[in-house]
Amino acid sequence: MVMEKQQGQIDFTAEEQALKEKFLNLKKASGSHSPSIFTFKQKLPELDINVDACFLSNPYATDLFLKYFTEEIISTGKIRELLEFYPSQNQVIAEILADFLKVDASQIFIGNGAIEIIQAVIHNFVENKILINIPTFSSYYEFVKPGIEVVYNNLKKANEYRLNVDDYVKVCEANKPDTIVLINPNNPDGGYIEHDAMHSLLEKLSWVKTIILDESFIHFAYENDKFDQINSADWVSKFPNLVIIKSMSKDFGIAGIRAGYAVMAKSRIDLMLQNGFLWNSNGLSEYFFRLYTREDFANDYDKVRVRYIKETIDFIEKLKEIPGIKVYPGKANFVMIELLVPGLTSFDFVTALLVKHGIYVRTCNDKIGLEGEFIRMASRTAEENDFMVKSMKELLSDF
Ligand SMILES: *Cc1c(COP(=O)(O)O)cnc(C)c1O
Repeated sequence: MVMEKQQGQIDFTAEEQALKEKFLNLKKASGSHSPSIFTFKQKLPELDINVDACFLSNPYATDLFLKYFTEEIISTGKIRELLEFYPSQNQVIAEILADFLKVDASQIFIGNGAIEIIQAVIHNFVENKILINIPTFSSYYEFVKPGIEVVYNNLKKANEYRLNVDDYVKVCEANKPDTIVLINPNNPDGGYIEHDAMHSLLEKLSWVKTIILDESFIHFAYENDKFDQINSADWVSKFPNLVIIKSMSKDFGIAGIRAGYAVMAKSRIDLMLQNGFLWNSNGLSEYFFRLYTREDFANDYDKVRVRYIKETIDFIEKLKEIPGIKVYPGKANFVMIELLVPGLTSFDFVTALLVKHGIYVRTCNDKIGLEGEFIRMASRTAEENDFMVKSMKELLSDF
């Protein structure tokens, strides 16, 4: 007897079905963040991952960093110093960044990844009420201490989950939070607020005590055809309520190093340093920060950044041509995609990409504030992107 196939259902072989269950368990065990490639290799060795499009990094930047690191640290034997000695203290590394970012070192805080800074900022500066746009990067509400009110501003699907600046000001005025969070470009949808619009938004919100502006994906945003880098760090001198947080994990492809920084008023940094954070970096991160500010590396980096942005634009254009999905507009190195096939769930789709094609993308079914079936897919190398487009087309052609 042939079973009637339900609409939107993907056929999995018995073997694939077994992998699917293991994948579901891995996902459950890793909470609100996705299981890493290491976890997959350890717990699901039978699974071949060809493309990791779940983690949102520029692979060309990783190659570049590795080239410098190999030549200067590994081949020379200097790796020993990085391992044997204490790295510089937080404020010494801040000094290295100061000229490069064109802000005073006393306004820079170094973090063991941006996540450490998010935690410290949320714990130290949120007083009673925090306003968070959703969908969002979950740590912003997960780290809020008990007793603090979290107000969610659900971005509208009808507006493609983009932030409408005027509406947002009204939401702030109606709720009177002491802290607000803006992620630009936003994760998971990539929604971007232009530099000038952000500046005027900050001017209108000068009464908010703390404005967290997470620019972890800002190197992928562009406003002109030269793809010039956007730099907001010097706004902190003008807006004492502003806290800019920047992860280096995504744009430099070095999540393993744990490097991030924040720019904010000196008084805030002094308060955080009173609580520790003396040697919260490590030798690799210090090497990275020194490299980041060097002209030779910065020039090389900009080339791989622009190349990657161009290829990402090309990838997004190809994705837009695939029937059965809607690609949401954004200016990050990833896209949020809605599955429009009735009955097709994002978990099934993500699993099918994983077990049938070895492509790892993120389901957004645990993201609050999204209405529908969504996945998030990072741009990788041009070759990998083409493979992803081809596989997506293949999977969707069944419907
Ligand atoms: C990944 C991410 C972070 C955390 O970055 P780390 O530097 O690796 O800790 C912070 N904010 C956003 C929006 C992110 O996507």
